[in-house]
Amino acid sequence: MDQTQNFTVAIVGAGPAGLYAAKELASQGIHVALLNRDIKPGGLAEYGIYPTKLKMKNGLRAQFHQILNMPNIHYFGNVVVGENGDISLDQLRGLGFHAVLVTAGAQGTKRVGIPGEDLIGVYHAKEVVYHYNKLPPFSQQQLIIGKKVAVIGVGNVALDITHYLIEERQVDEVITIARRGPKEIKFDRKELDYVIGNLDVPKVEYEINRVAHIMTALGQDPQSAKDFFHEAKQKGIPPIGKSIFKLRFLSSPSRILDNGSGGIGGLELEENTLVASGDSTKARGLGTYHNLDVDTLIFAIGDTVDDHLGLPVHYSAFDKNPQPLYPVDGDSYEAFSSESGAVIQGVFVAGWSRNASEGLVGVARRDGTNGARAIMQYLRTNPQGNENALHNLKNNLLALSHPVVPYSALAALAIAESERAAMLGVEEFKFVSNLEMLEVMGLLGVTP
Ligand SMILES: Cc1cc2nc3c(=O)[nH]c(=O)nc-3n(C[C@H](O)[C@H](O)[C@H](O)COP(=O)(O)OP(=O)(O)OC[C@H]3O[C@@H](n4cnc5c(N)ncnc54)[C@H](O)[C@@H]3O)c2cc1C
Repeated sequence: MDQTQNFTVAIVGAGPAGLYAAKELASQGIHVALLNRDIKPGGLAEYGIYPTKLKMKNGLRAQFHQILNMPNIHYFGNVVVGENGDISLDQLRGLGFHAVLVTAGAQGTKRVGIPGEDLIGVYHAKEVVYHYNKLPPFSQQQLIIGKKVAVIGVGNVALDITHYLIEERQVDEVITIARRGPKEIKFDRKELDYVIGNLDVPKVEYEINRVAHIMTALGQDPQSAKDFFHEAKQKGIPPIGKSIFKLRFLSSPSRILDNGSGGIGGLELEENTLVASGDSTKARGLGTYHNLDVDTLIFAIGDTVDDHLGLPVHYSAFDKNPQPLYPVDGDSYEAFSSESGAVIQGVFVAGWSRNASEGLVGVARRDGTNGARAIMQYLRTNPQGNENALHNLKNNLLALSHPVVPYSALAALAIAESERAAMLGVEEFKFVSNLEMLEVMGLLGVTP
């Protein structure tokens, strides 16, 4: 018998990175415990990807179910790992697993630290994205969205949020604000198609003319930036409502104004110029300010990892060994403390936990798979652990005061949700609370 069959690995987080890592390990005969905060697996593939991209979501769900059906993968949903969670990372390590892989995504919030960030009507992307994708408890929180909304950031997430504001909230105006210029936009061209019908292209052209002298000073071509938007508009995609979508370049939020009753009375922006920085550019504040008339503000500027998970954080992601012992394609997957200069023995990181907010599902898949390959190298050193780890984990979870969700229970949830969708005549239905989900799975009052 191959000795890998005696190894047990715990994975924290069943998003794409954790699931594909589990597949890689399980296909080598390793027993995998997959602990997931959410009842459902999938992470941002379930609760991030825009709800109407159903074909993509269903394709991924089918792949995830194939993985979770593997006999040596043991799913534990509704379990939070971390300092304030159901089980701490150190407790998990102490149960006898040969290695632990953290693929918990990037669950922290990047705060900008400007005055007014706590006003009513200021949100961070995750709150909005999790709300419209119906992840409890965000699904049950009310979002106070006004009529004129500023979205800070020009990546794909900012465009998804713009899509939601136009389609679902029917706001009058969304203005997306970029720290740098038209040439540094981060979103993919095909993502623009969802909202291009609402884009005020003459205003974008005016904006490009406003910053053209800064672009040309750096050798950038303002005309090709205009062509990018004109070409997208020429496809003739109709608007998805009455909202107007605008862009503003070379501006950074400097202060959120109070309307006198705790809400937003406007946004002060500092105007920027661009400076060359190696092969790229950097924004530099000019000390001149401009007020924007908005009543809602959403930051879509990337995330950071959860600093209460129990691992050191370094620049928005979990710290990694700069000189990896088990590199894969030259990358390090080994948890590390830069402060003490020590490797955190037997703990690995992958996906958005390793590189916060980096890339699409395909990137997370590759990273999870490579994280598992790093663990395979480590297991060949015959690390300590014992065969009772899974049994120990189950005993530990038995003591929790809430139900833990096994994979076998998820089928009942899927059936209940599709029956509800059919009854309502909608393409998809999701329960918005854990309580409802646990109830239809018959898990209320049941311990694991
Ligand atoms: C708004 C948005 C839209 C996107 N749209 C697309 C798209 O259209 N196409 C595309 O390919 N990609 C898209 N992506 C990117 C894609 O979703 C990510 O690349 C991918 O999901 C990252 O995978 P991950 O496993 O690293 O993290 P995540 O997907 O975040 O998964 C993390 C998992 O860890 C669990 N977890 C978190 N904390 C804990 C804890 N303390 N204890 C236990 N479990 C925990 C969570 O429940 C979750 O299941 C989008 C991302 C966002 C934010």
